[in-house]
Amino acid sequence: MPKNIRRIRVARNSSHVFGWVLTLLGLTPIIVVLLNAWTSGVSFLDLSALYDFLWTNRFNIGFGIGFELVYAIIAGAAIALIGVLLLARKREQIEELTVTTEDLTVTLECTVCKNRWKEHFQKEQLQSMGFPQNRTISRRKCLACGRFTRPKIIRI
Ligand SMILES: [Zn+2]
Repeated sequence: MPKNIRRIRVARNSSHVFGWVLTLLGLTPIIVVLLNAWTSGVSFLDLSALYDFLWTNRFNIGFGIGFELVYAIIAGAAIALIGVLLLARKREQIEELTVTTEDLTVTLECTVCKNRWKEHFQKEQLQSMGFPQNRTISRRKCLACGRFTRPKIIRI
C-alpha cells in the first residue's frame, strides 16, 4: 500500500538556551582578563601595552600548569562565537516530524457516460466523505463527456 509521507517542521528552542550559555561562558574569561588588565593600569587604547600584558601574564589552573592570558581570550572568543552562531541560527533550528498517511488508488465511474478513471485519495479523506456507506464523491468534471457529475467509487 503506498504511503504518503508528509513532513511537518517544528521550531525548537533548546539551541537558544545553549547559545546563551556558551556566549556567557565565553565572555566571562574575556571580561575577567580585561578587568585584570584595567586594574593593573593597562589602557585598552594602548594596544601594544595590552598585547604585552596578555602575553606576559599567566593564569594558573593548578598542578603547576598555567597559560598566558592571551589563550584565555582566544578560548573565550571561540566559545562565545559558537554561542553567537547558535543564537543566530535559532530560527532555522527545526525538527522534522514524519507523518504517514495511507494513499489509496480509487477507481471512479462517471454516472453519465460510465467512463472510468483512477484517482488518489487519502484514507482519512475518503472516511470524511462518508465512505464506505456513501460511495459517491464530490462533483467534478468528467474528462470523457465533459459533464459535471458525482462519480461513483467502483473499487479501491
Ligand atoms: Zn462522463
